[in-house]
Amino acid sequence: MKKFFLSFFFLLQAMLVLAQVDAFTTSKGILEIQPVYHGAFWMQWNNLRIAVDPYGGADRFKAMGEPDLILITDIHGDHLDSSTLVQLNLGKATLVAPQAVNERLIKFLAPEQKILVLANGDSLEWKGMQIKAVPMYNLPDTAGSRHPKGRGNGYVLNLGGKRVYISGDTEDIPEMRALKQIDIAFVCMNKPYTMDIHQAASAVLEFRPAVVFPFHFRQPGGFSDVKEFAQRVQQENKAIDVRIRSWY
Ligand code: ZN
Repeated sequence: MKKFFLSFFFLLQAMLVLAQVDAFTTSKGILEIQPVYHGAFWMQWNNLRIAVDPYGGADRFKAMGEPDLILITDIHGDHLDSSTLVQLNLGKATLVAPQAVNERLIKFLAPEQKILVLANGDSLEWKGMQIKAVPMYNLPDTAGSRHPKGRGNGYVLNLGGKRVYISGDTEDIPEMRALKQIDIAFVCMNKPYTMDIHQAASAVLEFRPAVVFPFHFRQPGGFSDVKEFAQRVQQENKAIDVRIRSWY
């Protein structure tokens, strides 16, 4: 019997690896994370299905089923993708977004769609999870910036004691460097839209998440060298677990 359970366990592990699911233990069960595309991923935790910046067509999100929560970071099409959103089954979904995104959402979503608006620094508690909106912006923070401070939201979630940071589209800003006790971080790296791998590595070495997923790394002419990002981080701090996944 023990043998059976062991082989079942290994089979389950193999399936998770094949499906590229990362699993983390929390005080309310397992948190599963599934990379999807560019800056989009979904998580399953405490019987909740949580999509982040769904983008690239609803087919990519089929395996998730009906989302309970959708977090949106900013107004650009790779984060607020209206054609993907309207294809998802939003019947029981609550959306969390900054005001600039909300203004666009209400133009194409049903009036009864539940949308919670958070500004940088705001927090809320939702079905046992904490959601905090944090700044994401480019430097210098000028009027013509692609990502001016205050428009978009990064997020810090607390899921059963595991703190998850989602960078949104940001450069290497002091607010990111000052993050504390992040267990799982999603960090963007694509010039000229966000930051390069050197800025990203330097920031990650300062706020020291336990696990970091480089994501959102497509850039003009190809992709950022996420392997080099991983090497730079590991050279300085082997305790940071850099997980390179297939995002494209
Ligand atoms: Zn983006």
